[in-house]
Amino acid sequence: MNAGLFSDLPGALAHLVWPCSCPVCGAVGVVACPECIVKILEPPLDECLLCGGGAPCASHPGAPWLRTGGSHEGVRRDLVLRLKYGGERRLGREMGEALARVFPKPEVDVLVPVPLHSESKRLYNQASVLAEGMGRIWDIPAARLLEWSGRQETQTKKHAAQRRKLDANALRCRKGAIGRVLLGDDVCTTGSTLRCAAECIRSSGGRVIGALTWSRSG
Ligand SMILES: [Zn+2]
Ligand SMILES: [Zn+2]
Repeated sequence: MNAGLFSDLPGALAHLVWPCSCPVCGAVGVVACPECIVKILEPPLDECLLCGGGAPCASHPGAPWLRTGGSHEGVRRDLVLRLKYGGERRLGREMGEALARVFPKPEVDVLVPVPLHSESKRLYNQASVLAEGMGRIWDIPAARLLEWSGRQETQTKKHAAQRRKLDANALRCRKGAIGRVLLGDDVCTTGSTLRCAAECIRSSGGRVIGALTWSRSG
């Protein structure tokens, strides 16, 4: 049975069809307790998005920072898998809200999620759902300003070395006023997609202040 089929049902009905429980404490009837999700976050120090060193970076003044909710392992990894493959959109919003409770509100005009790859079969973009959750707590709008410019292989199919060389034109930015941007994604691996997104937004007249992802892999 595909849990994703139920992701659009009203909450009350979904509860009857698909009883849910907090993945941390096991409380029944909630997708996750907000305080439990906050507790599993272990944010490391800010990184420079360009070089992976500390932020603010002496070598890259003004470069976007990267903040993450912790390493991509244990419960944090389990939640990403549930979000991606279990069709639990509400869980994603809770995860985004938890990130926004842990980190200070950034000085940005808009939250921009990394887009879903065009060939993805998922019913929703997990990065968008996370951004919606963050936006709700911070009161900052989330907007899907980026799209992949052509057919892209999914990251998991690619070799790490290839991923680092992501084509600078792989993403396209929709036209319009952009301003200061916080990028959002579920997992940061090499950071190449986020760097590509930051460059794309810069060339469209906007400015990426930082990127926030649920977890950090590699
Ligand atoms: Zn709980
Ligand atoms: Zn740097």
